[in-house]
Amino acid sequence: MGLVKQGLVWRYGVMSNAKIYITLDLDWLSDEYLAISIDILAKYGVKATIFATHDSRLLRSLDSDDYEIGLHPNFDPGGGMYNLNALYELHKLYPQAVGTRSHTLLFGSRLLPELERCHMKYESNIFMYMHEGLHCVARSKTITSVPFNWSDDKHLELEHGFATGELPPLDNAGLNVFNFHPVHIYLNTDVYSRYESSKANFNNPGMAEYVNRELGVRNLFEDLCSSIANNGVESGLLSDLI
Ligand SMILES: [Zn+2]
Repeated sequence: MGLVKQGLVWRYGVMSNAKIYITLDLDWLSDEYLAISIDILAKYGVKATIFATHDSRLLRSLDSDDYEIGLHPNFDPGGGMYNLNALYELHKLYPQAVGTRSHTLLFGSRLLPELERCHMKYESNIFMYMHEGLHCVARSKTITSVPFNWSDDKHLELEHGFATGELPPLDNAGLNVFNFHPVHIYLNTDVYSRYESSKANFNNPGMAEYVNRELGVRNLFEDLCSSIANNGVESGLLSDLI
């Protein structure tokens, strides 16, 4: 009997050698609200790569064996020019970082020399939703592109559900890189308008009023982490791929 995969559940107890990569785009969420995401990861012993937007005491406190810090620069100041200072300033805050994913995935070949200058080894801006068979490719002599194939904001945009089994299988051939936004984990976002409405109270106690009590992104995140832990699946850091 072969391996049959339904949702996040492996049938017949057969394990594949797939490795799962979880990434988080921080998007300026403060530690108080980020903590829920870290607590869930820690509860299940799942590793993650966190793309930082600002100085964070919580990120600095994490064990680098389990949590990689990458950079999440916002290159778009408006006006059509790249805001390179966003990269330089994050590089100064996290000089050990070797990877980057841009806010809004804004990227272009002109940025490659800048990434090299900041000692980046990979960028993760290519989003191929639900694609199978993905693999890393060389983007320049020294920088590798690491594509990702699932993101919570696309899931919300497409109005998919939040029950167990709504995420792609964990045993896809090729890379399986899941991206979450800690703000959606905190809000347990179910519809994008909830997040939009919460923005007026971003990073302040009023944000709690917008937390969804029904099924949402946090349920998906916890299901994914528990499925990884309960099936003995290995989780990894994006820098492991380089
Ligand atoms: Zn972002």
